[in-house]
Amino acid sequence: MFNKILIANRGEIACRVIKTARKMGIETVAIYSDADRNALHVEMADEAVHIGPPPANQSYIVIDKVMDAIRQSGAQAVHPGYGFLSENPDFADALETAGVAFIGPPKGAIISMGDKITSKKIAQEAGVATVPGYMGLIADADEAVKISGEIGYPVMIKASAGGGGKGMRIANTDQEAREGFQSSKNEAAKSFGDDRIFIEKFITQPRHIEIQVLCDAHGNGVYLGERECSIQRRNQKVIEEAPSPFLDAATRKAMGEQALSLAMAVGYTSAGTVEFIVDGARKFYFLEMNTRLQVEHPVTELITGVDLVEQMIRVANGEKLTITQADVKLNGWAIESRLYAEDPYREFLPSIGRLTRYRPPAEVASDTHAVRNDTGVFEGGEISMFYDPMIAKLCTWAPDRARAIEEMSRALDGFEVEGIGHNLPFLSAVMEHPKFVSGDITTAFIAEEYPDGFSGVDLADDLLLRVAAASAAMYRVAEIRRTRVSGRMDNHERKIGTVWVVSAQGRDFKVTIDADKDGALVRFDGGATLRVEADWVPGQSLARLNVDGTPLVMKVAKVPNGFRVRLRGADLKVLVRTPRQAELGALMPEKTAPDTSNMLLCPMPGLIVSVDVQVGDKVQNGQVLCTVEAMKMENILRAEKAAVISKINVAAGDSLAVDEVIMEFE
Ligand code: ADP
Ligand code: ADP
Ligand code: MG
Repeated sequence: MFNKILIANRGEIACRVIKTARKMGIETVAIYSDADRNALHVEMADEAVHIGPPPANQSYIVIDKVMDAIRQSGAQAVHPGYGFLSENPDFADALETAGVAFIGPPKGAIISMGDKITSKKIAQEAGVATVPGYMGLIADADEAVKISGEIGYPVMIKASAGGGGKGMRIANTDQEAREGFQSSKNEAAKSFGDDRIFIEKFITQPRHIEIQVLCDAHGNGVYLGERECSIQRRNQKVIEEAPSPFLDAATRKAMGEQALSLAMAVGYTSAGTVEFIVDGARKFYFLEMNTRLQVEHPVTELITGVDLVEQMIRVANGEKLTITQADVKLNGWAIESRLYAEDPYREFLPSIGRLTRYRPPAEVASDTHAVRNDTGVFEGGEISMFYDPMIAKLCTWAPDRARAIEEMSRALDGFEVEGIGHNLPFLSAVMEHPKFVSGDITTAFIAEEYPDGFSGVDLADDLLLRVAAASAAMYRVAEIRRTRVSGRMDNHERKIGTVWVVSAQGRDFKVTIDADKDGALVRFDGGATLRVEADWVPGQSLARLNVDGTPLVMKVAKVPNGFRVRLRGADLKVLVRTPRQAELGALMPEKTAPDTSNMLLCPMPGLIVSVDVQVGDKVQNGQVLCTVEAMKMENILRAEKAAVISKINVAAGDSLAVDEVIMEFE
């Protein structure tokens, strides 16, 4: 076995690989850029080599620099993680020349699967079902329109070199095909330096379901079941699970066998993933093969018990697989939530800054449930604009899907992340969504269910009641503490009343609290009585309570006369007042926020790439106003209504902070 391996990556995946290497008794070498000097992967590795400035194209993806780090450290093998150099045949080549093992597939497999047109042709020859379409190159927009018409709308226009959801457009009409062809081509040229485009049928009611394969260099291979990755935003995965709620055993077997025959056809070794699109009738079609460890691999590990990184290292070391297909058993259900530094209330725009608080839920591994959190960050650390906005991958496992979802909801409720915008409330909301809960999901789920973006959720009545009871009991504890602190020691508890009005989500609940030494009974006027028990003390930001025998976890922050409470995707102000205060409060005018509707504010810290309008321009709803770049993504800001531009405060090249005024309207 290798003595020392280098991990040519950063963030959570570098940490993930280090964990397994350590378990196997292998020393690890990290590489890091200036921005990652204090990163977790550097801290965790046995050694670390500095490789350059923050931008990846000056550090992590510069093959010569990585090769230098390998020589310097004497590593015998390299794990590339995902992204960066993981699917770069030149890197595999450089390693081969240097006599260093690549913990991944052979160069030939990377090349043939790295191109969508080539891989589709190989798949077809290997007897794998592919999406109907035109496999040749398309010269111009006229040809794109002609071919789209022949395939039949809707069609998907794709970049052959594409990846990460880029260079892809759906077209429903000739006009859209013409525009889509041009914009795919531009995006592909810019992102991949390769503007070859092809067109295939857009599969309706599509689900993204992928098969994990694992092959050794001795002709053996297994498939480790599937992952359902249909919850996507901009063709990028957000929530994944294994198994898929949609597959039956026969379809799973057929997909698994086809995936394996494709792997065999290209002489694949190591872990790889064959992605399929599956239609409403369970017909499946090959999409692409990813020749690397996939982001969402933990859900497969949780239901199969196989450590994929360990297997990759063993295969790279020339060992034979010890697992046969008959050994692969799918046990229970696993879900992964990708926690992204993307603000769900601002159309998922990336957010950067310091993690002022980062407290993931405790990891658990038991027979009844499991919680796993793969991360590369720490409290006080910085989410920079240079890399991927993923903060953590939170996974839960349970014997069945319903319980795995409940575990995820609870784990998300207990996950504290402050200081930057993040999608945690959105992930919670999906876990509560009836369509998700029933397993009725397609890749259009987010677009269809949140057409106007995400604006938080309202709690269902029963949960609202539980939150009201919990808040009342907590408020009483806080009041007792407060009156004590203020020095009024004379029989203070008597002064705390027992009748309160709890207001939340536009509702008022009159309650009576009977406290004893272990908790409180909260009686709702004309309704239920709920018992609240907790060891919460004022000042704690996470409250773990027990309400009527079941756990309730919520984030709490003190506000005048109550709390800000966050749980299950909801963010609410809960007021707890005496009946008199509540009465007076109802007469107070609501404070109105300053009117910023006639301004365009910068939604995230970033760089102005272009300003597309001038003072005096009349713009229409949806018209492009300017483009802001942050975290490698260009974000187009559009007019939300017809207006006239009265003032422009920025120019291309300016760096802006969040909420800076970009332009004003008349
Ligand atoms: P997975 O299929 O494993 O979920 P993703 O599509 O989420 O993979 O991509 C994994 C990582 O690799 C992400 O950080 C993504 O930005 C990056 N990535 C994938 N393909 C490319 C590509 N062709 N060019 C640049 N980055 C890519
Ligand atoms: P990438 O390399 O960017 O991951 P993929 O070919 O894997 O590109 O496609 C990404 C996503 O786009 C898929 O998961 C799926 O949601 C959607 N998609 C791709 N091709 C089609 C198609 N022909 N019909 C419907 N959806 C598609
Ligand atoms: Mg893909």
